[in-house]
Amino acid sequence: MHVLPNPPTAKGSAAMFTGDVFIDVIHPADPPSRMRVNAVHFTPGARTAWHAHARGQTLYVLEGSGFVQSRGERPVAIGPGQVVTTPAGEWHWHGAAPHHLMTHLAMWEAPESGPESEWGDQVTDDEYPSV
Ligand code: MN
Repeated sequence: MHVLPNPPTAKGSAAMFTGDVFIDVIHPADPPSRMRVNAVHFTPGARTAWHAHARGQTLYVLEGSGFVQSRGERPVAIGPGQVVTTPAGEWHWHGAAPHHLMTHLAMWEAPESGPESEWGDQVTDDEYPSV
């Protein structure tokens, strides 16, 4: 057993997020493990850019209220206790609701080779739900 020192909270990159997002790395895929777990804290209105994960991803909402959307589908409201799974290669985004904080765990695997995720355009204000 290891009780780890708390690594500092990181600010989400402006290339991958709109708005202010803060990330606590819980499990960094230290080899031979390829599992990654982050706690991701979205401030109101903050969201990821459109992206896809090579091996898929599971989200677990801890608190607040937010949205997820897959490419070509409607945004779906999410709240505490909900689990969202995204298949490998499916383009999507996730984030807070316009007037609420939202924190989720993000869990995914790094592939054996190649990029873990592919990142695209930011979610525009027109795409982002207004309520
Ligand atoms: Mn994702």
